[in-house]
Amino acid sequence: MSDRYFEPDAETMPRDQLDELQEEKLLGDLLPWAYKRSPLVRATWDAAGVSIDDVTSMDDFREKAPFVDKDAIRRFRDTSNDRYGGLLCVDPLRAGGPFTAVFSTSGTTGDPTLVPSVTSGPSILTREFWEMGCRPGDYFVEMLFTYRGPGIHHTIRGIGATPVFVDHSPFEFPNVYRLSRELRPTGWYTMSTPLILALEQMAPAMGIDPRDMFASYKGVIYAGEPLGARARALLDEWGVNFFVHTGVADVGAATECREHDGCHIWEDIAFVEVLDPDGTDPVADGERGELVGTTLVDKIAPLVRYRSDDLVRVTRERCACGRTHARMWPVGRKSDEIVVDGVSVLPGDVWPAIESVAETEAALFQVIRPARELDRLRLRVGFASEGPHGLADVRDRVIDAVEACVGLVPDVELVPNEVLLRQGPPHKIPRVTKQ
Ligand SMILES: [Zn+2]
Repeated sequence: MSDRYFEPDAETMPRDQLDELQEEKLLGDLLPWAYKRSPLVRATWDAAGVSIDDVTSMDDFREKAPFVDKDAIRRFRDTSNDRYGGLLCVDPLRAGGPFTAVFSTSGTTGDPTLVPSVTSGPSILTREFWEMGCRPGDYFVEMLFTYRGPGIHHTIRGIGATPVFVDHSPFEFPNVYRLSRELRPTGWYTMSTPLILALEQMAPAMGIDPRDMFASYKGVIYAGEPLGARARALLDEWGVNFFVHTGVADVGAATECREHDGCHIWEDIAFVEVLDPDGTDPVADGERGELVGTTLVDKIAPLVRYRSDDLVRVTRERCACGRTHARMWPVGRKSDEIVVDGVSVLPGDVWPAIESVAETEAALFQVIRPARELDRLRLRVGFASEGPHGLADVRDRVIDAVEACVGLVPDVELVPNEVLLRQGPPHKIPRVTKQ
């Protein structure tokens, strides 16, 4: 390891070597394994009339390998009585069990699916925690929402630090404040928008000085949903050096480096493609497209050409930090997109407008999406107070701000912030709803 890189050779590997490594891992190892053992992969390939013998190069893979998506997994699960959706490549009844844990997805986009997990030693997040500046002997706060957390504490221990466990709840803040002043932790995983907004509101009553609380942290991981300008400004005001962290098509995670110029995707553990959301052609480097992921390392429940529904931008230009791995910027979800009068709107597009109005600045809102193509943009927007001139005036200002932002006059239903917060898992709320 070096001052900046936990695994210098892997993190700064020249592009051509990285491409070779991906080919070797995918064609030489992962794909034959998954094709032979995963009932979903085999059924999908058989249905597409493609055999593993047809794929002898990365070009073949890009051209011929069929896609899977979350619906395909759910369908397989429901029709074949296989709770793992045909993904499992190992015998779950093996003595001692093949997993160290089973998690469940959050169910943001439908019923949750099971995620079997294997933890052995430090995970790939070691590179991120090292880059943040966390070192052996440090304390590291793990504030995780409850449903998923394969091995974060292993990762913390993997860099020689000690995890400090707290709940992902605003009511933990007094506890975190005390621990932060006592132990001087250097890392925090994770912070979310609801926590940031709760801290702003509750800090005075709880006797917390956020700047003092965060003073010892070299890095705080932010995850959950796109970080709005307001939450970003609060973190800046509190002196938090935050690192945006996001999922990569369920085959990995991507996190900002100290350059804060996109989230690095570790391409030695995942092969990613960015494709036309409505087709199969790749988009140009840096253009908006759908993220499609293939694991290079998961032998338990491998995803092969998994269409994530996530709209992203990805570049493979070398980062100023010296790392060669791709960087991505999440844009939104394909299934969240609506089209009104030919205008494409994602929740992130109206976000700045809603947080520009004082009474709705928490930007708790939902896009009403009974279908993809709509006549009207309909929004449900949370408010903190009725403002000086009443709710009708708040509504008018929200409508004006949204129109100025996306060029569409929306229908706006106002509800108290608490009503929307009750709908979420703790770290985010559903930004799109059918009604
Ligand atoms: Zn970088």
